[in-house]
Amino acid sequence: MENTKKVVTRFAPSPTGNLHSGAYRTAIFSYLYARKHQGTFVLRIEDTDKERSKKEYEDNILESLKWLGLEYDVFVRQSENVGRHQAILEKMIEDGHAYISKEEAKDGSGVIKEIVRFKNPNIDVTFEDEIKGKVTMNTTDLGDFVIAKNIREPLFHLAVVVDDFDAGITHVVRGEDHVSNTPRQILIQRAIGAPTPVYAHLPLVLGLDKQKLSKRKGALAVTDYRDLGVLPEALLNMVAMVGWNPGTEQELFTKEELVQAFDLTKVQKSPAVFNPEKLNWFNREYIKKLSSEDFWQHALAFVPEQYQQSGMLMKLETLMRDRIEKFSDIQTMFADGEFEYFFADPIVVHNQLVWKALKEDENGLEKTKNYLKEVVSLLEGVADDQWSIENLKTALMPYADQEGKGNVLWPARVALSGKDKSPDPFELATLLGKETALRRLKAVV
Ligand code: GLU
Repeated sequence: MENTKKVVTRFAPSPTGNLHSGAYRTAIFSYLYARKHQGTFVLRIEDTDKERSKKEYEDNILESLKWLGLEYDVFVRQSENVGRHQAILEKMIEDGHAYISKEEAKDGSGVIKEIVRFKNPNIDVTFEDEIKGKVTMNTTDLGDFVIAKNIREPLFHLAVVVDDFDAGITHVVRGEDHVSNTPRQILIQRAIGAPTPVYAHLPLVLGLDKQKLSKRKGALAVTDYRDLGVLPEALLNMVAMVGWNPGTEQELFTKEELVQAFDLTKVQKSPAVFNPEKLNWFNREYIKKLSSEDFWQHALAFVPEQYQQSGMLMKLETLMRDRIEKFSDIQTMFADGEFEYFFADPIVVHNQLVWKALKEDENGLEKTKNYLKEVVSLLEGVADDQWSIENLKTALMPYADQEGKGNVLWPARVALSGKDKSPDPFELATLLGKETALRRLKAVV
């Protein structure tokens, strides 16, 4: 059914934990749909469960949405609406849609409670779901379900229905785990004269192990990804494509492009997989696009204090960009000693200098020394202002080709870095500069 009313969507998290993957996918889809239709995006914090709701989690949700760039037009806490919920509850009782039921507490204390039950008409309920299509469920099995703990404490279904009604929500975008709640909520809508919104129940988000992602099962919160040095545009882009794609080959989307391309009816019905490797891919793509200034703005936080002011640091930008998947990798690489040799001459173990093919040769070390001597003299022939990767290759490669690349280039690399694994000697020597490179090579010889 075509809806001509202004679109109003909402994201309605309970502040019982940091904003995690299944939930922020819901937020993203709900946001994109509202923006696509020039609608309104409501953030409703469902904080009526006083024991489990925490301010710190609400803060985390707000911080996460802000970081992802999901700005909302309306903010409301469900607890602020309790008066409305109570009024509607009373009206429902008055109208005969609900009744007070005196029941013994389940804890065996013998206490009698006055809970409020909904008077179930026991009918088939049908609703339109943008993703699942037409859904029909019989409500008889639900019985006269409970809608309030007592006349002062309305429960979840009633609160959701009243709040959606009052906010004029036209599209309820939420996780598939709420499908079974929908018939109850529709019955309540009908009882209070509220329109039924269009529903869009999103497929579950699974981990690579095909198990449901959850707070307990390895799903990271938005703020965890932020702290790991993932870019918000990468996370947004990646998560937007968990269970949705525009049906083209395009994978990289700015937020604006997502808004344009997004379509609830193209969301897949089957569970969607959250692949952390894919997130790394997206992040690398977005890291490539950063200006130098923005790169360092993100990177610097992960560089150990003592190197932050070093002139060498800035020269490592390309190397870092090529090698990291997220900015915190920089910290790990420093911790693993992968960059230290740029800042201080390495300690070189002689045996390590010998290329593997020469290891069995009893003159291997001697030969290596001669190769390195020649490397020194060839490099000394490159003028200071000609010191570039290309020119170093021109100077060294003929000799390396003649003597064996490994024999010559391996010890040069080790002499410069002290490491088996490092950039090639041309890149190293260029980054280190002529003076340092030659000093290190000569010291080893
Ligand atoms: N507060 C509910 C949750 O966090 C969402 C309710 C809804 O979307 O209808 O799961």
